[in-house]
Amino acid sequence: MAGPFKLSPLPYDENALEPVISAKTIGFHYNKHHKTYVETLNKLVDGTRFADMKLEDVVRATSGKDAEKEKKIFNNAGQVWNHDFYWRSLSPKAGKPSGKLKAAIERDFGGTDALVEKLAEAGKEQFGSGWAWLVSQHGKLSIDKTSNAIDPMAKGVNCLLTVDVWEHAYYLDYQNERPKYLQAVLVKLLNWDFAAENLEKEDHPIRAAA
Ligand code: MN
Repeated sequence: MAGPFKLSPLPYDENALEPVISAKTIGFHYNKHHKTYVETLNKLVDGTRFADMKLEDVVRATSGKDAEKEKKIFNNAGQVWNHDFYWRSLSPKAGKPSGKLKAAIERDFGGTDALVEKLAEAGKEQFGSGWAWLVSQHGKLSIDKTSNAIDPMAKGVNCLLTVDVWEHAYYLDYQNERPKYLQAVLVKLLNWDFAAENLEKEDHPIRAAA
């Protein structure tokens, strides 16, 4: 694939999340939707200053801009970042929160079940396409939801986990039943180790060399 931005490899096999998310859904979602965002982004940034930036910086630099070209770049860059983050937010070995993350969840939500319920509610209430998020700001955890390609990262908020609630994420497996998809994914597939790593990053940001 030409261009500065790459399709990141899936962190597991396409069938690894079955039966909650089928290999067919992951196949379309990753090889068609996610890949197309990468390809479109590469076409849009060709010959622009964005071609030399890190993906996160492209998202931040184009967030909230009015110019048509920048809106298009934002939509595609945001979706590339969001999908990279979504794949890593899921794991066939879900596990349970522990240590500092567990303590923060108990303090801010009263427990993991209550957190999951709030995240499911946010995903259900997101009208139309978008994302539900677990985020942290100064170590305090909260839930957010965003439309289309928007992510809290663009505004400098630290993201811990996300769930894609675009129809393409669940329609083949759950048809119109978004709450069923959310319930299954949130209970069985959330990658708590990834959330814990992201929580650590807020205290110890890793700034990649420019
Ligand atoms: Mn998606």
